[in-house]
Order: sequence, then C-alpha cells, then structure tokens
Amino acid sequence: MATKRVPALEGFFREEDDGTARLLGGRCVKCGASFFPMQWSFCRNPVCEGAPLDEVELSHTGRLWSFADNQFSPPPPYPQADPFVPYGVAAVELTAERMVVLGQLASGTDTKTLSVGVEMELVVEPLYETAEEIRTVWKWKVADKS
Ligand SMILES: [Zn+2]
Repeated sequence: MATKRVPALEGFFREEDDGTARLLGGRCVKCGASFFPMQWSFCRNPVCEGAPLDEVELSHTGRLWSFADNQFSPPPPYPQADPFVPYGVAAVELTAERMVVLGQLASGTDTKTLSVGVEMELVVEPLYETAEEIRTVWKWKVADKS
C-alpha cells in the first residue's frame, strides 16, 4: 500500500513535514500583484510594465466567498472516483492578497453548515492513489476555532 505523499500538481502548493499546507504563487517584483497558480511569464497587471514574478507563499487562510456541492463527476483529466462521491468546492478570498482561490472542500465538510464569510484554512489531502504514491491536492476547511 502506498504511503509516500506527492502533490498531484507540481508547483501549486507544498506540504510541510508537520502537515501544514502552503499555497505557492507568484508576486510581481515591480507592482506586487499576486497570481495563483505561479506563472513563469510576466506580470499580467494591465497598468504594470510587465516585470518578472518571484515565487512566494500566499496566505493559507481566508474567508469563504462562495461554495457549491458538486453532485456530478468532474470531467477528464480529473481522476474519476468509482463509485462517485459528491464533493464540495469553495472559493476563498485570501487574507493578505484579497484574491479568490478555488479548491475542493476538505473531506467530511457538510456544505449545509457553511456560510459565506466564515474563516477557512488550507489543508492538504489525498486526491487519489497509485500503486506507489498518494497523490495530494490542496483543499479548504473551516478554520479551527482557538
Ligand atoms: Zn507587475
């Protein structure tokens, strides 16, 4: 059984040894505009001359901006679960960058208990498994109240 955790998408996020999730993006060296996912070309801000981007860690917290309960299977190339299990998707406005990043809701999240504006945090969870590896993806979960 596979135990090695590997991102299903390289360069979008990172999982620390303690399980903490980090979202990776790009920030323009000139105007400071942030982008997700990281793009290796130039800044897309229309009022910027188009400077290169630095790879940065984006906020791993934010506020729920919108969400949905997906009752249908995602189209290829997404892996198709068999049998299909409904899953939630969330749009979260990042705390510092104020940009909206989409992601699945963490497993076990009941969309009936969600409301726009609640504090969310990034987690890394399995997306699917191969014989050798557990392929992971970033997801959003309701932040722990402490
Ligand atoms: Zn720029």
